[in-house]
Amino acid sequence: MVEKLIIVPIEQQPKDVVSVLKLRAPEVNFPLSNDDKEIIEQMKLMLFELQGVGLAAPQVGISKRIILVYIPETAALLREDIRIYPMHVLINPEYQGLNKQNKKSDFEGCYSVKSVYGKVLRYDKINLTYQDEDGNRIEKMVEGFYARVLQHEIDHVNGLLITDRLTPDCLQGTFEEMLAIRRSELSKEKQKVFDDLVKKKGMINDDQD
Ligand SMILES: [Zn+2]
Repeated sequence: MVEKLIIVPIEQQPKDVVSVLKLRAPEVNFPLSNDDKEIIEQMKLMLFELQGVGLAAPQVGISKRIILVYIPETAALLREDIRIYPMHVLINPEYQGLNKQNKKSDFEGCYSVKSVYGKVLRYDKINLTYQDEDGNRIEKMVEGFYARVLQHEIDHVNGLLITDRLTPDCLQGTFEEMLAIRRSELSKEKQKVFDDLVKKKGMINDDQD
């Protein structure tokens, strides 16, 4: 039995114990245990409720190499390099950056870090390997926003947060400050979409993973 999983941002976690958010999570064995299946089911429900775009097991207090990605249509409204993806699970994921000179900077936020948002430099193209829920090994090349989300989530199972990626030269600040800058960089039409999304939800989900 798995207790009800919740997201506790790093700022609200006790300072005297090392958070699982800071640990390299161990590999998951196959076939999946009943606990692993239940963790995945709970994480799927959470990520549907959050409306995307990514969630890693350490974010819900579980040190395992399990990540979920879900890129709904609403997340695709404001970005150019984006395709929608249904909810899916990647187990024991790893990536290798391709074209090291072709990194891109874009806005990211994290459900586990409430105090800082900013533009993170990521590979535009990566070689991705993982196992699906049946343990089949999959290898492929992916790019654009999907590759960005995967790099963010794989960082989580390696114990890295956006605060480790936001070097002093990266644009960064509070959620409100970054929201204003993000809006100013959009076209007039996309600013309208942006305003509608903020009015509806008070936030922009596609920055969050
Ligand atoms: Zn995150």
